[in-house]
Amino acid sequence: MQNFLLDIIFPQHCCCICREPGRFNTRRPWCQHCRENMEKLRHIAPLCDKCGKYIDEYDSLCADCRNEEPLFHIARAVGPYDESYRIAIKVLKFLGRRFLAVQMGQMMAETVLDEPRFWPIDMVIPVPASRGHFEQRGFNQTELLAVQISKKIKVKTVADILQRVKETPAQRELSKPEREKNLLYAFAVTDPRRIRGKNILLVDDVYTTGSTSKECTKTLLEAGAARVSVITWATGCGF
Ligand SMILES: [Zn+2]
Ligand SMILES: [Zn+2]
Repeated sequence: MQNFLLDIIFPQHCCCICREPGRFNTRRPWCQHCRENMEKLRHIAPLCDKCGKYIDEYDSLCADCRNEEPLFHIARAVGPYDESYRIAIKVLKFLGRRFLAVQMGQMMAETVLDEPRFWPIDMVIPVPASRGHFEQRGFNQTELLAVQISKKIKVKTVADILQRVKETPAQRELSKPEREKNLLYAFAVTDPRRIRGKNILLVDDVYTTGSTSKECTKTLLEAGAARVSVITWATGCGF
């Protein structure tokens, strides 16, 4: 949908993060204070060179990546899964404020454009939503973000190629080993010919243990993709 239509349908009279009253729109969904705070939060700590999680001191890799190197080429996020970043994803996902995906996707695209190791990219693939989430909310926030990223980086989104083949309980409630087991063989590629030899940008909302990104990466590589990189809105702390 066009941005101006979204602004007519969803007029915003307060900052979606701190509720400060004012005039907001799809291009400016949060106030100046929240924007500055988000910029500051981005640089709170160094990043794991591989998965992009925030780490305590410059160690180059987080404990998880040192333990077992992920199959993806690189993963990065816009900011830490905390404060404003956490609120923004919740407002998009659970309150269904889809217009937020415009600005969030834009910021994710900028992160991709700023990191040369993401390139080249042949296609953008969103992590598919669970059927439960989709039926409950009627949209997949990851796909909304992917479409916005596509517009900005000028690489097409292909949303029908990676599918969930196993319904899994919500990851939030589970420990890390449980998450990995939960997701084992949860995804499949519908038509491997379309991704053979391709460099894929996988889009997810949050990277915490990385279980979802890792399982999707494995599925895509096994189906013949050349390389998978991951962009998320927010990421956890690896310390
Ligand atoms: Zn605000
Ligand atoms: Zn790492």
